[in-house]
Amino acid sequence: MILPKTNRLTAEQLTEITAIVGEFGCKIQPIIGAVRTIYAIVGDERDELMINRLEGLAYVDRIDRIQSPFKLMDKRSDLASHRLQLGGVKLGEELLVIAGACTIDPKNPNYFYETAAAVKEAGAQVLRGGVWKPRTNPYAFQGDVKSLDILMEASRRTGLPVDTEVMEDSHIKLALEAGVHSLQVGARNALNYSLLRSIGRAIAEKDTCVLLKRSIHMGSLAEFISAAEYIAAFGNPNVILCPRGTTPTLDGYRNHPDESITPLLKEKTWAPVVIDPSHSVGKAVYVPACALAAVAYGADGLCIESHVSPSHGIGDDPKQAVTPDVLAKIIKQAKQLWTLRHGPASA
Ligand code: PEP
Ligand code: MN
Repeated sequence: MILPKTNRLTAEQLTEITAIVGEFGCKIQPIIGAVRTIYAIVGDERDELMINRLEGLAYVDRIDRIQSPFKLMDKRSDLASHRLQLGGVKLGEELLVIAGACTIDPKNPNYFYETAAAVKEAGAQVLRGGVWKPRTNPYAFQGDVKSLDILMEASRRTGLPVDTEVMEDSHIKLALEAGVHSLQVGARNALNYSLLRSIGRAIAEKDTCVLLKRSIHMGSLAEFISAAEYIAAFGNPNVILCPRGTTPTLDGYRNHPDESITPLLKEKTWAPVVIDPSHSVGKAVYVPACALAAVAYGADGLCIESHVSPSHGIGDDPKQAVTPDVLAKIIKQAKQLWTLRHGPASA
């Protein structure tokens, strides 16, 4: 829909926009109002080049799109009835909890094995553990490929599927070969389109899930859903949206908590929303409230950092990992809240 700056276009302007949209197989239908005339684009209006050319015209105020730019992830797409399954949970039917250490310590694997067993006991259905870590400080521990074996051994011991972050093609390959069930795209890489494409391509024929974090820098909803679309476009739409707090930070928290965007996301996309309260607030003591707020906002799940002995953890664990007993309490209360909101779990 083209909205001109004036009440109606001149004959020359109408000829010009008709010619532009004609190049993209579309037509113009004027909608004549008492005061203002607006111009509907009839046809597939999703071509970015066409929109850019129209937006570049001095007499065009703005273009309102009727069609969604997310062909697959849009709530009105045919995929809207698609249900993701992870850890025996059908998302949307039961609260999904992903929990585990921020970073696997390759020198002390027992902490991770004990954490894996403990988060399972607490009620988590998926185990998380960082093998490769994106660190702000280049001299901080960057992860170690040896941790991939530890992650998969913990998966075998507990029977839990696992989630880990991948940052480059070699990680994707190794993680998929090892049998990782969910590839995490971190907040720093949420706009790395070549990585998103590589993941999409690599999982196109598989049922692997992707936990896509929201970009740190206040990514708009459209930007976030478009990042998911990059992956889904290759054929596997199993993308979970994971808000994890944005900058600028709220004084006292690590980031600015953003679980409140859940209902807005759910209006636009059918993709499940799993909130990460740990990176959002960044301190273990605030995690339970943030997790419950997320469920109240309608989240389908939670991704929580937990460690049997946070002070012995590496990466974020000393600051933000909750102990398994706290995790168990969060899960219990979150499930009660889930039931209040959705009725008893159908799974
Ligand atoms: C993490 O999950 O440990 C992590 C680094 O997450 P984020 O990308 O959200 O910072
Ligand atoms: Mn972390």
